[in-house]
Amino acid sequence: MKIGVYPGTFDPVTYGHTDIIARSLHVFDKVIVAVAPNPTKRPLFDLAERVEMVNLVTKGLPHVEVVTFKGLLVEYAQKRKAHAVIRGLRAISDFEYEFQMALVNRKLNKSVETVFLMPSEEYSYLTSTIIKEVARFGGRLTDFLHPQVAQRLLRRLGRRAT
Ligand code: ADP
Repeated sequence: MKIGVYPGTFDPVTYGHTDIIARSLHVFDKVIVAVAPNPTKRPLFDLAERVEMVNLVTKGLPHVEVVTFKGLLVEYAQKRKAHAVIRGLRAISDFEYEFQMALVNRKLNKSVETVFLMPSEEYSYLTSTIIKEVARFGGRLTDFLHPQVAQRLLRRLGRRAT
């Protein structure tokens, strides 16, 4: 049984994330979506809310588990007997940071590989940060977020759904 761990902040989960999860399920028998606290990123949603939203958007997908983890990702991946860490690669701009992180993780634990998956091109420019900006200024969210995630985001920002 091949297990992949897909870590991230998911603040909030977008269609870009779900695209990567769906693709991962073609490669792995089980995908563990690991939501990180990441306080340094000052997330808009707390950890429990982010987990709840990932659960919501992955509800129909078999072989997906949504968890939180603390500490080093490679340690968590090893504890869960994962074969690989999954990361999404959007544009070239992601590459440098992802490259560094993958190599640091390999240094920390050489048995955990990092696998990169490319999203569908319609999501290749999508980031949670940009979506929060779009929401703040009243832009349409239907192409980017699950309707209930969009609703929660607008509510959090004190905006009414349009
Ligand atoms: P992190 O803080 O770990 O970067 P994110 O939630 O921003 O957390 O992203 C988690 C993972 O999902 C990262 O590998 C990121 O590159 C990937 N990702 C985010 N948005 C997209 C997208 N639109 N298409 C493909 N991968 C994405």
